[in-house]
Amino acid sequence: SCTANGVADALRAAAVVMAEHRVELIELDRAIGDGDHGENMNRGFTAIVSSLDTMVPETPSAVLKLAATMLISKVGGAAGPLYGTAFLRASTAIESELDTAAVVAGLRAALEGVQARGKAVEGDKTMVDALIPAVAAAEQAAAEGADIAGVLTAASDAAGKGAESTVDLVARKGRASYLGERSAGHLDPGARSTALLLGALAEAAR
Ligand code: ADP
Ligand code: MG
Ligand code: MG
Repeated sequence: SCTANGVADALRAAAVVMAEHRVELIELDRAIGDGDHGENMNRGFTAIVSSLDTMVPETPSAVLKLAATMLISKVGGAAGPLYGTAFLRASTAIESELDTAAVVAGLRAALEGVQARGKAVEGDKTMVDALIPAVAAAEQAAAEGADIAGVLTAASDAAGKGAESTVDLVARKGRASYLGERSAGHLDPGARSTALLLGALAEAAR
């Protein structure tokens, strides 16, 4: 299972990835949104790292809750409340030990939180298109006996494919939906950041 410090290190790794992909996410959002997604995500994860540098909470759940608070207060836009809700729901789903089953339950809860908050369904060209296949793949990997790293790697791979699938879609939620048919032909920035986040968490778990 994974300790509070393990979760903190995974979030630090995610912050590095968000910083590295800041410009890419800005450019994706510039094509079909307002061009701030990379800045938003980088600001949020930088704030998470700053607060972890002050104090790492005692449990995995409390670390995720701290991350949720930072994302909600610092990211703004559509993605802030959505990622914040995802982390908050994951935090609530993980009771004590962060074992493989808890990772899967956390991912499932994160997806449900995003959908409860944003009302997007599969095919709306949002982060949900990365999260739905990620949760399905995580559940399948866990059922086949994978460990935490295996579950997160399966989730990350599926999220990457799910994100790629948004290219052909017409946006029905968020700013990109204002473009209607013209939103097709572009990768959704939030789906991309979800795939990046899961990739960083998987890498940190290996
Ligand atoms: P904003 O659009 O307010 O500038 P961001 O650019 O940070 O916020 O985030 C945009 C991303 O948020 C989109 O690419 C999409 O993946 C996601 N998003 C927007 N609206 C929704 C929604 N209702 N449900 C799920 N995801 C959404
Ligand atoms: Mg934006
Ligand atoms: Mg914005």
